[in-house]
Amino acid sequence: MARIVMKFGGTSVADLDRIRNVARHVKREVDAGHEVAVVVSAMSGKTNELVGWTRDASPMHDAREYDAVVASGEQVTSGLLAIALQHLGINARSWQGWQIPIKTDNAHGAARIMEINGDEIIRRMGEGQVAVVAGFQGLGPDNRIATLGRGGSDTSAVAIAAAVKADRCDIYTDVDGVYTTDPRIEPKARRLKKIAFEEMLEMASLGAKVLQVRSVELAMVFKVRTFVRSSFEDPDAPGMGDLLNPPGTLICDEEEIVEQEVVTGIAYAKDEAQISLRRLADRPGVSAAIFGPLAESHINVDMIVQNISEDGSKTDMTFTVPSGDVDKAMRVLSEHKEKIGYDVIQNESGLVKVSVIGIGMRSHAGVAATAFRALAEKGINIKAITTSEIKISILIDGPYAELAVRTLHSCYGLDKS
Ligand code: ADP
Ligand code: ASP
Ligand code: MG
Repeated sequence: MARIVMKFGGTSVADLDRIRNVARHVKREVDAGHEVAVVVSAMSGKTNELVGWTRDASPMHDAREYDAVVASGEQVTSGLLAIALQHLGINARSWQGWQIPIKTDNAHGAARIMEINGDEIIRRMGEGQVAVVAGFQGLGPDNRIATLGRGGSDTSAVAIAAAVKADRCDIYTDVDGVYTTDPRIEPKARRLKKIAFEEMLEMASLGAKVLQVRSVELAMVFKVRTFVRSSFEDPDAPGMGDLLNPPGTLICDEEEIVEQEVVTGIAYAKDEAQISLRRLADRPGVSAAIFGPLAESHINVDMIVQNISEDGSKTDMTFTVPSGDVDKAMRVLSEHKEKIGYDVIQNESGLVKVSVIGIGMRSHAGVAATAFRALAEKGINIKAITTSEIKISILIDGPYAELAVRTLHSCYGLDKS
C-alpha cells in the first residue's frame, strides 16, 4: 500500500468525458489498495476566461476579488470529479483550499503556500476516502481566497504530497513526461526518463511551463518523488499502475541519474524586452540608481550587460524585463533620469530567450562555444548572453525562436535516440 497524490491539469479535465477518464485513473490506484488524494486544475481555457472577465470589469481591479473570481474554475472541476468518482462506486469528496485549509501569504494573485494541515485528509484517506482538492487556491491571512499564480495547481499538488507524506506525486498532463525541449516546437524532442531537481528548476524558470517553478522548489526541499506523466493513455494499459516505475519522467536527486548527459534540455521564454541606457557616467552607484527604483516597482530584471567606453569614463547598460513591464520600466527610468544620469534610453520588445540546461556543464568546457557556432551558422544574431554553472541563456529576435530551439537541440545531439 502506498500513499499517492495525483494531479490533473486543465486539458486532462477539459470536459466531462475527460473527467470520467481521470476518474478511471484514480480508480486504478484505489483498486490497487493505495491511499489517494487528487488535485485538479480548472478546465483548460477557463482560467484565461476568468482572468479576462476581471480585466474587462476593470483594468485596475482589487487583487482579492481577482482571486475570488479566478479560483472558481477549480471549484467546479473538484466537485465534478468527486461526482464522477462516486459514480464509479468510490468514496470521494471535494475540498476547497480554505476547507483544508491550505494557508498562504497575503500576495493575492501570486500567493505562496505557508502551511498545510494534512491531518484530516490523512485520517479520511485511512478510512478509504479519496480527497479531491481544488488546485491553485488557498486561504490568505486576511481570511480570503488567495491564488498561487498561473500554473499553480502543480504547486498545490506537491505541497499536499509533502503535507500528507505521500510516497509519490504524479503530475498528469497532456504530454507523457518531460522532454528535451517543448515537443510542440521540436517533434524530435525525446522524453527523459529522469531529470535532476536543479535541471527541472532551470527548465521551468527559463520557460518550460510543464511544471510551475515553485512546485519544483517544493519537491526539491521536501524530497517529494514527482513524476510527470500522461492522462491521455488508457488508464488500464499494462504498466500504468506500476508502483516504483510508472511511465513518465521522474524528477529526482542528481545522484539517482546514472548516465548524465552534458546538456539535458533546451527551454525558451517569449515576450522578453530589452532596455538600453546609453552614455552613463561610469561611477560607483550607477547600477543601484537604475535597478533600485525598478525593484521598488516590482519589475523583474533578468539579463544585464554593461559595456565601458575606451577611456573608461562612460558606460552603456542593457538589460531585459518581461515585455508586459517595459512601459512601466521606461516610465520609472525617465522619472529617475537625473539621478541615474544617462544620455539616451532605448527599448525593443518581442525578443526571446533560449536556454541550454544541463548539470553536466559543470565539468565540461566548450558548451557555450558550441551554441554560439551553431547559431552563427544559421545566421541568428545574439543580443545578450548570461550563464550560470548549469545553464546558458541567449537573447535573440523573436522570429528566430523556433529555429534557435531546433538548432540548439540538434547541436548537442539531443535529437538522437
Ligand atoms: P497542464 O494543463 O496539464 O498543467 P501545461 O500546459 O501547463 O499542462 O504543461 C504541459 C505543456 O508543457 C505541454 O503540452 C508542452 O507543450 C509544454 N512543455 C514545454 N516544455 C516542455 C518540456 N520540456 N517537456 C514537456 N512539455 C513541455
Ligand atoms: N487553472 C490555473 C491556471 O490555468 C492553475 C493551473 O492550471 O495549474 O493557471
Ligand atoms: Mg500547468
